[in-house]
Amino acid sequence: MKHELINKILADTAYVRMGGRAEEKKAAEYLIGVCNEFANGAHTEEFPVDLADIKRAKLYADGAEIPCKAYFLCGSGIAEGELYYLRSTDKYSLSQCRGKIVMIDSYLGYWKYRDLIENGAMAFITFDGNINYADRDIDQRELRPYVSNGEKILGVNINAKDAVKMIEDGVKDIRIEVEQDEYVGNSQNVVLELKGEREEFIVLTAHYDSTSLSTGAFDNMSGCLGLLHMIEYFSKNSHSYSLRFVFCGSEERGLLGSKAYCEAHLEELDKCVLCVNLDMIGCIMGKFGSCCTSEKELVNYISYMGLECGFPVHVYQGVYSSDSTPFSDKGVPSVSFARFSPSNTGTIHNSYDTKALLTAAQVEADSEFITKFVSRMANAVLCPVARKIPDNMKQKLDEYLLRKKAD
Ligand SMILES: [Zn+2]
Repeated sequence: MKHELINKILADTAYVRMGGRAEEKKAAEYLIGVCNEFANGAHTEEFPVDLADIKRAKLYADGAEIPCKAYFLCGSGIAEGELYYLRSTDKYSLSQCRGKIVMIDSYLGYWKYRDLIENGAMAFITFDGNINYADRDIDQRELRPYVSNGEKILGVNINAKDAVKMIEDGVKDIRIEVEQDEYVGNSQNVVLELKGEREEFIVLTAHYDSTSLSTGAFDNMSGCLGLLHMIEYFSKNSHSYSLRFVFCGSEERGLLGSKAYCEAHLEELDKCVLCVNLDMIGCIMGKFGSCCTSEKELVNYISYMGLECGFPVHVYQGVYSSDSTPFSDKGVPSVSFARFSPSNTGTIHNSYDTKALLTAAQVEADSEFITKFVSRMANAVLCPVARKIPDNMKQKLDEYLLRKKAD
């Protein structure tokens, strides 16, 4: 793809695109327009998502107001109680949560939330950001429906600087007030098929939504640029397998777009031989990687291919936290490509994820390698990747998709 076009797409989409919001839909329509430059038939496929509009969010620490954002979908009401800072989840610490408003360190995942509920926490406080950054940004979080399972307690997110201050000051009494409208809206995938001689197909995915503070250039308009690069290439070059491109919506909200796609196309997935996912490519610094949720042979294949092409790839077997995972969970072997930015040279899910992290030349170089790989698979006499998920990967999928707790 021309470098001017890569830079234009990054500039045109430099806005926040949260899953289910109007800006995400605007980006979907924009991507359809770009696809149409190369091939016909791009369209959206909608799916329902839970949404919320916050009317009021207040946090008072010993009477002083602290800037906060209420969690979407955590309900409405008032919580008043003593602050407890849950530094670790040992038995003793958890036993101290009952009736308290609990501050936690990490991201509020499924098992952490279950701990809070089972130990009688009244409400929760999370924090993010970085005490060394100049900003006081607060990310908009949500209590995901598959995390709350209908058991909601109020929650707010605050900036790390305020969290540190609260603990330093020995804050005791907390009051949280949340008022929000919760409802069901729509998000969408953008889908384009390039028919090959075979009905069997390779699915190619990249999410185009972003988190609340991020214009998501690296995570993940860069991956979308990789898909567009392939759409341009394969609209002019041979592929015996059909290619289905899916620009996924609402990935940042828990892979909702790829999950919805897999549910809506469940029967056709029998004909899907491989999923190739792109999530974060083209950053200036760092090494190129590839995570295979497949048999080990694919790891070796891509490693050799990297050396053969003079384009080194760090390849490993695992489950990547991205849109490849719902496909693998339905039995489709997958590979995710990414360039990993080292030591804070490219952070994501904050306002620093902009096109300044990328160059068009690196986006193109990464896209070209991925295109070479896909071209080999798509023109294979038979796609060589075994269409099965090995037991060690099934175990990882069970853990990632919260059916089993990791040891
Ligand atoms: Zn991403």
